[in-house]
Amino acid sequence: MQFGLNDEQLAAKEAARRLAQDRFAPRAAEIDASAEFPWDNVRLLREAGFLGMAFPEEYGGGGADHVSHVAVKEEIARACLSTCTIMAAQYLGSLPLMLAGTPQQKARFLPPLAAGERLAAFGLTEAGAGSDASAMRTSARRDGDSYVLTGVKCFVTNGGAADFYTVFAKTDPQAGTRGISAFMVEKGTPGFSFGKSENKLGIRASATRELVFDECRVPVENRLGAEGSGYKLALRTLDHTRPGVGAEAVGVAQAAFDAALRYASERSVFGSPLAEKQVIAFMLADMATQLEAARLLVYRVAALIDAGATTFTLAAAQAKLFASEMAHHVVDKALQIHGGYGYMKEFPLERYYRDQRITEIYEGTSEIQRLVIAAQLLRNGSGERR
Ligand SMILES: Cc1cc2nc3c(=O)[nH]c(=O)nc-3n(C[C@H](O)[C@H](O)[C@H](O)COP(=O)(O)OP(=O)(O)OC[C@H]3O[C@@H](n4cnc5c(N)ncnc54)[C@H](O)[C@@H]3O)c2cc1C
Repeated sequence: MQFGLNDEQLAAKEAARRLAQDRFAPRAAEIDASAEFPWDNVRLLREAGFLGMAFPEEYGGGGADHVSHVAVKEEIARACLSTCTIMAAQYLGSLPLMLAGTPQQKARFLPPLAAGERLAAFGLTEAGAGSDASAMRTSARRDGDSYVLTGVKCFVTNGGAADFYTVFAKTDPQAGTRGISAFMVEKGTPGFSFGKSENKLGIRASATRELVFDECRVPVENRLGAEGSGYKLALRTLDHTRPGVGAEAVGVAQAAFDAALRYASERSVFGSPLAEKQVIAFMLADMATQLEAARLLVYRVAALIDAGATTFTLAAAQAKLFASEMAHHVVDKALQIHGGYGYMKEFPLERYYRDQRITEIYEGTSEIQRLVIAAQLLRNGSGERR
């Protein structure tokens, strides 16, 4: 299925598949085992133009549409989800700037990000504030022409590797979600350092690290959007990036499915190939159908954004929720089809199994997606789109 992808979108998907299968797939197990941040893959993503593919052309980006972007992410995730996560965080960390930055801020920060010469990261979560980001404690106190940031962000993808950080902090602790503002903070700013690096279940080669702000002075001109608009900006950003997490889930599930289909055709039990056992054949039929449904949801929301939709919160949450839970199920079944071999590190199934799990957690857990979907339905009625 190509969901009516046009020639340009198909070419982007095909180029991503070639790069990912030739260069990322062969190294995926090794960097998973070593948890080494793959700077060589970052270079390849940069050279292929994928790190900045969805950035505006006027700032040196590829100006690609959202359908191409999710199609490319799917192919990269299919080979190596760690690498795809690094690419995704580049977009996540830069989107607040694209959505709310002034022309001066964009001219200053976007070109090196669009060129992939610098990496970005997004610092919203804190130890006591994940799903409920409004409980954040990091503060930004205005002092003349600066804000002084104090606090600790955790679980930040590309933490330590990135040069530019979008950081959310409370400028008015009494004002709830309206008291949060966003700032662009550069690596090397005095008072900004990196804390604990996380040792993770999956996407082990991606960096996940604490950001520590100790009286870190950030100039007023680094604030993104109006004071107090940071929470809304974070949510708008996540609406744009959740389809990308859905694409990651589709990519990993496709890889697991491909392996299962091959294995079921080659492995003989009780005198005939596994695939000829109806239980296994039906399992494969269900997996392929669920995979395709998830892909359609992901591509549909990307197409909606490309068509100029201004509100797509519902469709983005549905795509992420369905695709990530589909991947959980499909990868699990693919591992099951491999029997004991699926459990061994010689086969990639156990890595897919560990990697896939993050798609149900970051950028809003499945429970949070359900809360978002329910709130949208209760506010706007039926989710049916014509
Ligand atoms: C590998 C990795 C990379 C990440 N990258 C980033 C990043 O780049 N930037 C960033 O800012 N954050 C990042 N995160 C953080 C991630 O977005 C949060 O972990 C996630 O939003 C959940 O927050 P939490 O961990 O605090 O869990 P909690 O919010 O404490 O949730 C715990 C459990 O309670 C459930 N829950 C919470 N609220 C409700 C509710 N109202 N009703 C029912 N159930 C509820 C949750 O679904 C979950 O199951 C990353 C996390 C990981 C693991």
